[in-house]
Amino acid sequence: MQEDSYRHKGMRQNLVQVLKDKGITDINVLNAIGTVPRHAFLESMFVEFAYQDKAFPIGSGQTISQPFTVAMQSQLLNVTKGMKVLEIGTGSGYQACILAQMGAKVFTIERQRNLYMKTKPFLAEFPYNIKTFLGDGNKGLPTYAPFDRVLITAAAPEIPQALVDQLKTGGIMVIPLNDEADASKQRMLRLTKQADGTILREEFGDCRFVPMLQNIGKD
Ligand code: SAH
Repeated sequence: MQEDSYRHKGMRQNLVQVLKDKGITDINVLNAIGTVPRHAFLESMFVEFAYQDKAFPIGSGQTISQPFTVAMQSQLLNVTKGMKVLEIGTGSGYQACILAQMGAKVFTIERQRNLYMKTKPFLAEFPYNIKTFLGDGNKGLPTYAPFDRVLITAAAPEIPQALVDQLKTGGIMVIPLNDEADASKQRMLRLTKQADGTILREEFGDCRFVPMLQNIGKD
């Protein structure tokens, strides 16, 4: 793994301030962003970009989400220590590390084999409790269910019923759901599974993610 220098730490604290200024208030989220070395998730030549509040390509047509998006989704998820969290879309593994740094036991699914093969050993270098899986996130992980939290980090055409079923009562799912009127964007939703089995639905504005796909990629 790349070295974590004072310069990197300084850039990270600046990023934390940027996120505070943009309205992130959850101290656990801000501490996690201030701790996880985002530059280690990018090729070393792109280190200058690691602490800007921007998404960045990670290969295979995928991106590491913008820090604000990671922070916003993590804040909406309301994670506390010891929770079991299922993430759909491992990608670079950065979001998984943020959740793990917040004390979650993370289960993360990626559908692209080459990303999975690259990220799995990389995540093993961190002292975190993260289990990686190759598969279709729409199906979740019935063997490990139920989960306290489910986080979807790709644009979903609909709310996957299997993931609702795998949520504990009182559990929360954060999902960027395609906007029916405009296919190029999504609505950030927070769904809470209530004691009577009904779902409380809250909306948190527009966002943009790469599409969530149904089949396993051959790449
Ligand atoms: N959370 C990632 C960013 C995710 S980008 C990070 O922190 O870097 C979205 C990811 O979702 C991509 O890696 C994409 O391959 C993956 N993906 C798309 N459809 C999926 C599906 N059905 N199941 C699992 N992963 C999926």
